[in-house]
This record gives sequence, structure tokens and C-alpha cells, in this order.
Amino acid sequence: MSADTIDDHKARSDAEIEAHRDELLSLSHDIWNHPELCYAEAHAHDVLTGALDRHGFRVERGAFGLETAFAAELETPRANGPRVALICEYDALPGLGHACGHNIIASSGLGAALGAAAVASALDGRLVVFGTPAEEGGGGKALMIREGMLDGVDVAMMVHPADADLDAFWAIAIHELHVEYSGIAAHAAAAPHKGRNALDAAVLGYMAVAALRQHIAPHERIHGVFTDGGDKPNIVPHHSAMQWYVRSGTRSTLAELEPRVLAALRSGAIATGCEMSHRWIDPAYDDLVTNQHLDGLYAKNAARVGRTVRSRDAAPEFLGSTDMGNVSQVVPSIHPMIAAAPSGTSIHTEAFAAAAVSDLGDLAVIDGARTLAATAIDLWARPELVAEAKTELRRRLGHDS
Ligand SMILES: [Zn+2]
Ligand SMILES: [Zn+2]
Repeated sequence: MSADTIDDHKARSDAEIEAHRDELLSLSHDIWNHPELCYAEAHAHDVLTGALDRHGFRVERGAFGLETAFAAELETPRANGPRVALICEYDALPGLGHACGHNIIASSGLGAALGAAAVASALDGRLVVFGTPAEEGGGGKALMIREGMLDGVDVAMMVHPADADLDAFWAIAIHELHVEYSGIAAHAAAAPHKGRNALDAAVLGYMAVAALRQHIAPHERIHGVFTDGGDKPNIVPHHSAMQWYVRSGTRSTLAELEPRVLAALRSGAIATGCEMSHRWIDPAYDDLVTNQHLDGLYAKNAARVGRTVRSRDAAPEFLGSTDMGNVSQVVPSIHPMIAAAPSGTSIHTEAFAAAAVSDLGDLAVIDGARTLAATAIDLWARPELVAEAKTELRRRLGHDS
């Protein structure tokens, strides 16, 4: 297939996205106006599945055992080419609404689906759109993967809004930990010697983690809060509780860090004569495995719409975690950041929430859709690129000979 032909397909996809501009932007604003938290994204689920249904996709609502997840397959029964998955996130943040701009992720994913669908048959391409709830804690994608979401998927793609165009961000592995200490209640003035102080246990455990933090790798992060510290000053606290996020560069370095954190926390129990119990919250988020082959394609297609994509190496401050990491460990994936806010506007702020429905935010919806669709078109037109991306993933995961 000639390069001209691929360009023609991309132009056709662009035209399709342009024809649906108003629908895409009103959907983005609609989701923004109905912020919904993890696993409660009923409105976003309904408007997205309604749109995909209207546009001829075979929609499964409440997919993979999650009420607010969906899968929407493009009906191309005779197609045999790469099966590309577009990922839509749509959960919001408590108190801040769409301060992570997931309304842009959802609508650019839908727009990419409409654009790519217009040329899929001609290119023998297969396309599925996944609605993945609860990215901001809850790990919807991880649970969906267990139920078979990625079976038969060749490549997974999404864009995430930010204040810059980057090929990815530093998405490291994270595991949430809940810890409880049990002591013995006693009158704090009359009989303190009869008590065992669970608050002291938690404080000492916290301080032990603080000491540990000096001696962990630079990219590792451990942060916690007290969620129960006793009831009243005149009662020796017999119960205390903490929540922690433990983060490390990769799932394997995280596994090495976890017992060190637990040992530090347990020291508080030992010192005070209390008991400690803990629970790792399932699922953990894996680190994002980037794919140079796919990131390169994305960057080229972003240049088509006038965006210069920089390497995440230029943005070390862009550190966080995403359940797209779990996806990226199974199939070659991209999670580029698309500029949707003025430079210097951090995600998870009120300013970013405002940007997510500004002109810049709207432009990111359209440009993101065009770029993702063009990348799918490249993969359909040249399936050997998918094979190269899969080889790179195996190499990155150390599964190659
Ligand atoms: Zn976020
Ligand atoms: Zn986000």
C-alpha cells in the first residue's frame, strides 16, 4: 500500500471526526458537568455507550462484571487485520470534578473510534472501544483484564490531557496498604499502665517509615495518613488505623519494597505491645511499559495536527500511577499526554478542571481523536508495525530469548 493511500485514509478519518465535532465536544462538556467517582460513572457510561450504539458499534454495557464498564466492537465481520483497542476513562475526583480531564479522554477516544471506523473495512482493520471505570483508585482496567478484556487485542491506545505534549509520563507501580493496630483501652489518668496504646503504635510505625524513606530508591514514594487515632484523650486508644500508598518504579521493585514498609510499620506494634494487622488493597497498579515503536507513530501523527511531542525524559516531574500500566504489561500500549491546558497547570487542580472544558481542552479532544485514529490507520495499513511493537514489549518484559 502506498504512503499516499494511507494519507488518504487519514484524511477521510479527519473528515469524519470534523463532521462529529459538535457531538464530541458536547459529550466532553456533558461528562464534565456530571462528575462521577470511581465505579459510580453511570451517566458517562450511558452517554458513551449510547453514542457508540448510534454509530453502529456492537455495545456491551456493564462489561467484564463492572456496572460502569463497557466494550463496543466495530462490526467488521470479514476483517482480519490488527484488533486495536481504544480506551476511554471517565471518572472524576472527589471535590474537584474533572480535574484530571477524563472527559477529554472519553471524548477523544470516541472521536478516534468514529474516525477510524470510517476506514476500517477498507483496511481490514478491527476496532474495539473499552470504557474503563475507576482509574483514580479502584483499578477498573486491572479487574477487566482478569475477566478477559485484552484477549485478542493487539494494541491498546489512549491519550491523557496535561499541560504539555509528551509521549508518556512516569507511571510507576503503586500498591495501597491499610494497617490497623489493636491495643488495650484504659483510663488515661487513673490506670495508664493497664493500657496498650494503639495510637503510639501507629505514630512509631509512621516514624519508622519516615526513617526508611531516606534509604529507598529516588523514584520510590511512600505516603500515608492516619484514619483512626483514638476516640478521646482520657481513653488510652485501643485502636488506630492508617492508609498508605507505596510506589516504586516497577512491579518487581515494588515487591521488594513492600516487606520493608511492613517491617517498619510492625516496629510500632512491637515497641508498644500492640498487635498489627494489614491488608494490601487489590488491585495494584503496574508501571507503564512504554513502546518506542508506537510512541514514535503517535508522535508522527501528532505532528500532522501541529503538535510537537516531547519525550517524557524532558519531564521528570510528571510522576504518578495509572491502571493503564496493567494494560501495558499485557499488550503494546500508548498513554501519551496531550496539551489541554496552559503550561504550568498541574492535573488534579481547580485550574486544570477549568481547562478541561476550555478551548485548549476542546482542541485536545479533536487533535487527540485525529492522532489516535491516524495511529490505528498506520497499524492497520502496516501490520508488521504491530509485530514490531509486540517484539519490543516482550523484550522490555524480559520474556525474549
Ligand atoms: Zn488523575
Ligand atoms: Zn487521569
